[in-house]
Amino acid sequence: MPIQLLPPQLANQIAAGEVVERPASVVKELVENSLDAGATQIEIDIEKGGSKLIRVRDNGAGIAQQELMLALSRHATSKIATLADLEQIVSLGFRGEALASISSVSRLTLTSKPETQSAAWQANAEGRDMAVQVKPAAHPTGTSIDVVDLFFNTPARRRFLRSDKTEFSHIDELIKRLALSRFDVAWTLTHNGQPVRRLPIADSPAAKQKRLAALCGRSFAEQALWIENHYGQLQLSGWLLAPAACQATAACQYSYVNGRMMRDKLLNHAIRQAYGERLPAELQPAFVLYLELDPADLDVNVHPAKHEVRFHQARLVHDFVVSALSDALAQLSTDLLPSTVA
Ligand code: ADP
Ligand code: MG
Repeated sequence: MPIQLLPPQLANQIAAGEVVERPASVVKELVENSLDAGATQIEIDIEKGGSKLIRVRDNGAGIAQQELMLALSRHATSKIATLADLEQIVSLGFRGEALASISSVSRLTLTSKPETQSAAWQANAEGRDMAVQVKPAAHPTGTSIDVVDLFFNTPARRRFLRSDKTEFSHIDELIKRLALSRFDVAWTLTHNGQPVRRLPIADSPAAKQKRLAALCGRSFAEQALWIENHYGQLQLSGWLLAPAACQATAACQYSYVNGRMMRDKLLNHAIRQAYGERLPAELQPAFVLYLELDPADLDVNVHPAKHEVRFHQARLVHDFVVSALSDALAQLSTDLLPSTVA
């Protein structure tokens, strides 16, 4: 075969292979876009585990009519403009690939209205050249994205989907993690028309406690200790369960780096080390922890789905987390503090 440029849809489908593994990955990309758009209310509706429909509706900043086409094209983003921006990422997205990827493997409709625009517009991209059609629509300020028939044109991917129940459980787990990172956002999740989660904005300590109980269980919420510590630009806060209250299966193990959910080896190692001998090997630590550091000390451009980060000063971060948590656990064993929320 001669060398030829891939048609846009095929190029996007190849990119989608890295980012869009299953319905939950689509939900992650769409919800992160809503958060980046400053939404305070996010509604997620799922049908058939997401293989039939994934709809994410937000009340964020919206997309102007003349930018709808760009939003669906590859390498188009409003979040970074220069290499310097890439070194200082403060948004969840920056690759400008999600919508192009998702729309190449589904029937995607994007409807949006910015506050300043009097009417809403709707766009979808179709065919090999992914030509975008834009037409008027009805929508309040904010954005809705409907992803219908995910993987309908990529049968190999479609075959890898598990049962609706399993796919939905991945989505629910994801929403749990996201909802624990943004107490200032109201979330709803439905599956096949049935409400599954309804989490109002939690802006008081009591409301936070209630959301924590809804997501991590009542006993975690009642027994976990709230911790806060900092060292230079590094900040660690969150909830931690005393070793005496830990069980063989953890109530929850969630960590976030600059608001991004992470399953980070370095953090997990540091957490386990802090529990140290206080926790028998057969028991699991339980925690919801938020690490904040200067975005310049973090590389988020490591993995297409952004599951990983790289710390520029890994040793320092590790040791800070160990010492912050050890201090908290040591204190906990001397004077059993009641759980409080900052
Ligand atoms: P990225 O998030 O990496 O910029 P995406 O493909 O996910 O790339 O989105 C492309 C662009 O579309 C974003 O940069 C943003 O400007 C716009 N966009 C996507 N979703 C939303 C949304 N829910 N609200 C407002 N703007 C959005
Ligand atoms: Mg995005």
